[in-house]
Amino acid sequence: MSVPLLGREQRWECPNCPATDVTREAEPHTRFHACAGLKGLTAPMVPAGTRAKVEAIERGDYLNGDLVTRDGDGRPVMAVETTRDDGNDVAVFAPCATATVRGD
Ligand SMILES: [Zn+2]
Repeated sequence: MSVPLLGREQRWECPNCPATDVTREAEPHTRFHACAGLKGLTAPMVPAGTRAKVEAIERGDYLNGDLVTRDGDGRPVMAVETTRDDGNDVAVFAPCATATVRGD
């Protein structure tokens, strides 16, 4: 193995807006950004060159007075789902934290 664990460059892009970024984390991670294409929602970016779809999932009947994440139109959004050829990730907005759930 000649690939160094540290300093490896990861390029990110967004299917919904022109945002791009570069990170150099050794551990698996996901880059998030405020996405102009999703009305300002905090959305995950995908590794550059990945065919993926990132969509906002509206919050259904779960409004109960909690602080919720809303998109630019004021609609409550429950999660942002990333769909790839090999599976999908769902980033769920919780009142005080953002958790990422891995789903296959
Ligand atoms: Zn974006």
